[in-house]
Amino acid sequence: MVNGHTYISASNASRWTRCTASAELTKNIESFDTDYSTEGTEAHGIAAKMLSYMLLEAENPLPSIEKEEAKQLMARYAIEYGDWIKEILPNKSEIFIEKRVSFTDTVAGTCDCAIISQNEIIIIDYKYGQGLLVPAVDNLQLVFYALGFRKSYGRKDKYKLYIYQPRTQDDEPYSLWELEDHELDLYEELFNNAISEIEQGKFIFRTGKHCQFCPAKPRCPEWNEELQVIEKSKKDFPSPELLPEDVAEAVHLRGEEVIKWIQSVMKYNLAKACNGSRFTNLKLVEGRSFRKWDDMQEGDIVSQVNMYNLEPYKKTLVPFSHVEKHLGKKKFEESFGHLVVKPKGKPKLVSRSAKGEEISLSGGYEFNDLFLDGEEYE
Ligand code: SF4
Repeated sequence: MVNGHTYISASNASRWTRCTASAELTKNIESFDTDYSTEGTEAHGIAAKMLSYMLLEAENPLPSIEKEEAKQLMARYAIEYGDWIKEILPNKSEIFIEKRVSFTDTVAGTCDCAIISQNEIIIIDYKYGQGLLVPAVDNLQLVFYALGFRKSYGRKDKYKLYIYQPRTQDDEPYSLWELEDHELDLYEELFNNAISEIEQGKFIFRTGKHCQFCPAKPRCPEWNEELQVIEKSKKDFPSPELLPEDVAEAVHLRGEEVIKWIQSVMKYNLAKACNGSRFTNLKLVEGRSFRKWDDMQEGDIVSQVNMYNLEPYKKTLVPFSHVEKHLGKKKFEESFGHLVVKPKGKPKLVSRSAKGEEISLSGGYEFNDLFLDGEEYE
């Protein structure tokens, strides 16, 4: 919190430590709850209760969890989370769940789980989302909590920072970043410099990966420059084969970020409109809809389809993710691991600095057979 506004926090530390201007620009931006954020909040609540029961002998939350399938699933993931923490738990350690910590007077944050032993501090952040894999490495939210616990419980030799994300398709549901005490000092300096810049009103824009979820992106001058470039060139978008190779490469490298930014502006406008705002040149309409059977009349549908000698139901295999959700990752791997295959991914052209080993293909791909991420096969 700075000057009475909660616009910098531990959870967005990766952004404001790198772009101090975002602290000012995100001030007073309304945030809208989405299905994903509501689901995440519920899953966190259930996980915290389950950990308190499994690790701190609090009351068992299971009897009070409603008979809703989504909540039971959250509870099942929370039990796996608790079992995993038991596996990594050092001897003679103290466990903290949902503890508010800080190392500065300005910002504080609530850590999902921390474990303090004689030689190390373990920080765990629980992420329930399944779309975007969140790595532990370079995650400043985790560093913030480690600094908070170090301030209260003293320096240790080692800091183990974990993201536990049970619904990802990766082999392990967690990722780890290990730091030593002197490395934590460097991050403390980074935090303190950023906080001091913000407190002195020195707001500096710095773009980067941290812009991805910045709520100020639609009003950010750095990104508006990108928009002006698009505006100027839109009358004359040259076809790809006419672009010099270096320009085509530059478009490719920046394109992904610009597309994400345009989508964030469009989503922001949609959220505003759905919450009652009216625009001068935009209007809210009902989107495309498709005909479907009336679920309430399934009996009538089946009997009438039968009258025409047609089979009313079609049999398909249940998706493996559905079975995995019910059994949990470990049990699923034991019983079904050998029955699951992972086909090769579609070729994708990314920056040389991005993750992934370079592959070499010898042709046979037609322009119209290739798809970018997010595009759908017809
Ligand atoms: S979009 Fe990026 S550069 Fe702009 S304010 Fe947000 S973090 Fe800073």
